[in-house]
Amino acid sequence: MSSRKRLDGVRRSSAVLMICAFCVVFTTWALASVARADGRATDAYLDETRARWEQAARQIWDTPELGLNETRSAAVLVEILEKEGFSVTRGIGGEATAFAATAGSGAPVVALLAEYDALPGLSQAAGQAKKQAVAEGNPGHGCGHNLLGTASVAAAIAANRERVAKKLPGTIQLFGTPAEEIGFGKTFMIRAGAFKKTDVVLSWHPDDQNRVTNRTRLAATSVNVEFFGRAAHAAASPWLGRSAFDALVLFDHAISLMREHIKPTARMHRLVRDGGSAPNIIADHALGEYWLRDATGDSVNEMLGRLKKAAEGAALGTETRAKVSLVFSLREPVPNDALDAVLQRELDRVGPPRFDDTDQRFAKAMQKELGFEEVGLATKVMPYAQKNGGTASSDIGEVSAAVPLAELNVATRPLGTAAHHWAQTACAAHPLGYKGMGVAAKVLAASAIDVLTEPALVKSAHDDFMVQTKGKPYVSPLPPDAKPVAPTASH
Ligand SMILES: [Zn+2]
Repeated sequence: MSSRKRLDGVRRSSAVLMICAFCVVFTTWALASVARADGRATDAYLDETRARWEQAARQIWDTPELGLNETRSAAVLVEILEKEGFSVTRGIGGEATAFAATAGSGAPVVALLAEYDALPGLSQAAGQAKKQAVAEGNPGHGCGHNLLGTASVAAAIAANRERVAKKLPGTIQLFGTPAEEIGFGKTFMIRAGAFKKTDVVLSWHPDDQNRVTNRTRLAATSVNVEFFGRAAHAAASPWLGRSAFDALVLFDHAISLMREHIKPTARMHRLVRDGGSAPNIIADHALGEYWLRDATGDSVNEMLGRLKKAAEGAALGTETRAKVSLVFSLREPVPNDALDAVLQRELDRVGPPRFDDTDQRFAKAMQKELGFEEVGLATKVMPYAQKNGGTASSDIGEVSAAVPLAELNVATRPLGTAAHHWAQTACAAHPLGYKGMGVAAKVLAASAIDVLTEPALVKSAHDDFMVQTKGKPYVSPLPPDAKPVAPTASH
């Protein structure tokens, strides 16, 4: 190659480089413009007020309360909503800690759900990667409901400010829904007519992933299985007694044998709540709490029929009497692809929580402690797919059969860790948990505004709902005389 040709080559390369550099600058500028145009007022408001929400979430985390006793937790959220001009009705469906907050008027009516109950025994120091209770045996936010409730309230307020600023038509509702962990908070609220005026419901749940969830939550039914026998002195005259505890043991064995003959998707779990008062007294009463779960409510009902037969059989064999009573029943959520698409669009736009190195290091330390793969936190949003999500049941299943509903997950704990664990309690008052909460609030607020500004969305959500429910009206699984009572307080 001659020197002239080489020079030409250099000149051409420089020109190409300059064009490329221009392309990069232009593309960056263009992308930034798109991002700016795409930036939502609700996002900006939630960024500006971040400290307020983190403080509220921490306040709820600091005073963990079990289902139906969430007085202080509900009060934190109600106070904020009232300050923001929402009108609040306290106590719904016989649940003192349920509430409904409303702003705006007329259609469309978009509702967000706030949960704030804790779990027993999951007390855990914030930001500790090793199990270390704040107070041994106390409740803790092992499902991250302090983040759940606060993000939904923050989203409702952000959306309402936008509704007022843009003079948008419609109503924003925020339902304070207690007692999710004991399986029925929302079911009693539905029965009381709380969702009658609601067009669509949007919700979220803390998770280890970022995704729109659908078609994976299981239907669940919980029953108390009681046996009534005859008391006697266990040494002086045992032949006079008939042990209710023996009946429960026999029944439990039948259920354990049944495990081989249920579908792979089914789950059964139980707890003995009363096995008698002393070994030297033949127990005249025994009580076990049994949970049955599967992909469909029909399958759960079929298992329930078999459970009842096992209880009768155990009673027959021990000359005792059996009683099976429903604690709660909740169906698998009715999917709504139209609403899912709204959440996915906003989740893709907002993006995953921006975890930093400190968050990732903490997550990996926790994974190491638990013997999990040290892969840190989720840094991507999962693409939309049917059957994204986990298998935990929720009373949002009941809401979804009454009103079109969609739900998303946002990462608030390390990959591979599960809820109902001290790991989630530790992360629910850690910057990484707050980052997940912030993403959830932005997605919910923007989606609520989408519903108010795009009337076609409500129609497609409703059409999808009619297809999925086959137009059948909602029927409550609660017996007519059922009252909301926490399981531990009932016996
Ligand atoms: Zn939960």
